[in-house]
Amino acid sequence: MKKKCPECGTKIVGRADKKFCSDACRNAHNNALNKDSKNLVRNINNRLRKNYRILESLNTSGKTKTTGAKLREQGFDFTYFTSLYTTKAGAVYYYVYDQGYLPLENEFYLLVKREAKD
Ligand SMILES: [Zn+2]
Repeated sequence: MKKKCPECGTKIVGRADKKFCSDACRNAHNNALNKDSKNLVRNINNRLRKNYRILESLNTSGKTKTTGAKLREQGFDFTYFTSLYTTKAGAVYYYVYDQGYLPLENEFYLLVKREAKD
């Protein structure tokens, strides 16, 4: 069975372990993969940065209460955070770097800032 070049579809002739028809196709393919993963990382970083800015702008005192509507209105995306912290009592804080929030009842959120350690 003849293998096909994953970049251009040309049948591959030559060594059995040859994956691409040419250096040009191998480079083009690898560059495209790199670009995709870079875009993915960049997009997620942008979302995280936006979430961070929103939390930072709302939480001017270091600890404050806000609503889900207010967060969403500014474009906050609840699917992006950098870490979770579960208290002994089982409350789960969501963190975007050092800015965190704790979902409360009735769509309220407690915004907190993690104290820098060391
Ligand atoms: Zn090719």
